[in-house]
Amino acid sequence: MLISRRAAMICLAAPFALCGPVNAAEPLRLLIIDGQNNHDWKVMTPPMKAALEATGRFKVDVATTPPAKAAKETWEAFKPDFSKYAAVVSNYNGQSWPDRVNKDLVNYVKNGGGLVVVHAANNAFESWPEWNDMIGLGWRGNKFGDRLTVDDKGEVVRTPKGEGPASGHGPQHAYKIVIRDAEHPITKGLPAEWMHAKDELYHGQRGPAKDMHILATAYSDKGKGGTGTNEPILWVIPYGKGRVFTTVLGHVGGAQDVAIRCLGFQTTLARGAEWAATGKVTLPAPAEFPTPTEEKVAPVGK
Ligand code: ZN
Repeated sequence: MLISRRAAMICLAAPFALCGPVNAAEPLRLLIIDGQNNHDWKVMTPPMKAALEATGRFKVDVATTPPAKAAKETWEAFKPDFSKYAAVVSNYNGQSWPDRVNKDLVNYVKNGGGLVVVHAANNAFESWPEWNDMIGLGWRGNKFGDRLTVDDKGEVVRTPKGEGPASGHGPQHAYKIVIRDAEHPITKGLPAEWMHAKDELYHGQRGPAKDMHILATAYSDKGKGGTGTNEPILWVIPYGKGRVFTTVLGHVGGAQDVAIRCLGFQTTLARGAEWAATGKVTLPAPAEFPTPTEEKVAPVGK
C-alpha cells in the first residue's frame, strides 16, 4: 500500500523527530477474525492484513474459527483473547459463536476496545442483540429494524421497519463514495468524493441504528438494481467506552476482484481501524487516492 512507502520516504528525508507518531509509536495490535463467510475469506483476509500492516501502524494477528458444523469440542478451543488487542476486525459471517465469546467481545468493546466490521460481517449474528447495537445496521429483512438513508440536502432520513426495501444489492459496479462528515478523524483530509472500484453496493440495511454517525454514502442507482437514494457505506457508533467502525465495502468472489484492493477501501479500513483502536487517526491521506472520476487499485498481493 502506498501510505507506508510514502511515510517511509518522508522518514528517510527527515530527522527522526519529524517522522511523527505513525512510525514512532508502538504498532497497534489488531485481531482479524475469519473462518466462515459466504465470501472467500481465505482470499479476503491476506490483502486486508497486508494493507493494514503496510501502514506501519499495526501488527495484525488472525483468529480463524472452526469450520461450519464443527464439533462442540472444537469450538471449545476457540478462545480469542480480545484484551491483547487495540481493535478486532470481523471478516466473519457464519454460525453463532459460543456465548462466552460473544460476552467477551461485548465486554471488550464496552470497556474501550475497538471493533471493525467489514462487508458481509454485518450480515452475521441476526439474533445477537448487542451485536446489532454495535453494528447499527446489518443485512436483514425489512421488518427487522429501521433503515437510514441520506437525502439530497445531507439530512439523515429514518425509514421505520416494515417500510421500504429489505437489504440487497444490484449487480456489481464501480461507484462514487460521498463523504458526509469531512471533519471526522477517519475521513478528514480525504477527497469529498471518490470513485470506488467495482463492488456490491449494499442497500436497505436494517437495524436499531442507535447513535449511528454516517461518514460516507453512495448513490444507489435504480438503473443498477438500486434504491434511488444515498445509502450508508461507512459509519461509526460509540458503544460503552469503545468504538465501532463499519464499512460495507470489500466484496470478494475471487483473487482478481478489485474492491478489496481499492486504495479508498484500504485507506478507510486502516484509518477506521486506527480510530476504533484509539479514537484518533494519525495515518495520512495517501497522495495516490481515487479521484471523483478515477479508481485507484493496488496490484494483486499488495
Ligand atoms: Zn459481497
